[in-house]
Amino acid sequence: MALFHACPLCRSRIPHFVPLPRYYIDKSVEHGFPYRVDEFETINHQAYSCPNCHSSDRDRLYALFLTPVFQRLNQAHPFRFLDIAPGRAFSFWLKSHPHIFYRSCDMYMPEADDKADIHNLPYADESFDFVLCSHVLEHVEDPVRATAEIRRVLKPHSIAILMAPICLSIEETYENPEVTTPEGRWGHFGQDDHVRLFSKSGFIDVIQRAGLAVQQVPVTEFLTPEVCDTYGIGPSSVLYLGVKQEAVQQEPQPERNVA
Ligand SMILES: [Zn+2]
Repeated sequence: MALFHACPLCRSRIPHFVPLPRYYIDKSVEHGFPYRVDEFETINHQAYSCPNCHSSDRDRLYALFLTPVFQRLNQAHPFRFLDIAPGRAFSFWLKSHPHIFYRSCDMYMPEADDKADIHNLPYADESFDFVLCSHVLEHVEDPVRATAEIRRVLKPHSIAILMAPICLSIEETYENPEVTTPEGRWGHFGQDDHVRLFSKSGFIDVIQRAGLAVQQVPVTEFLTPEVCDTYGIGPSSVLYLGVKQEAVQQEPQPERNVA
């Protein structure tokens, strides 16, 4: 057990992190959602948020992953970072890096730089060095199209962090178009504004169908268990990276019938 805890976003020492609010657990139980919070990947529900800046465990995970990435950058060139559906603590942390050109977008959040639909992003092709899309794809109509838009705006060989709630107890992603009410979504998907429940393989499939290569990065590859404990990150957390590799091959042309 760490002697103290710390938040990499607000850079404060804290006695302990705050658990996930009971509201989420109580609501899903009330509406008959069949899975427990500990059946989901990458949510440290017992040490969820920073009492100072309210960062979540995933925000802290992203910051600790990106810190060495940012340290390696050539600071003479601005690093263009797109944050989709920005979280307050994380965007504040990103903006504290002077060589990061930060842009955020969202359909509804007034604090985002651009009002944008993720299915049709208002940015030029190959205009960003990095994209963060965290806990968005479980809300949207067409997650493959949304991820393909992320691919389009990424520069070649660039990376997106793509994260969503992943239920480890199901084999296939669950969708149900008949479930349209907030109460129904609590019961079927675990939150009133989610429209699907991702399985691990189903989430990976979305990224691949959008034309990005998937890299899974277990937190243990870059943080020790002691560091995870200090920063309130679950030791079984996994980051999903979507990597834009060479151009997607064109659809094969139909063979011509030679008479
Ligand atoms: Zn904090």
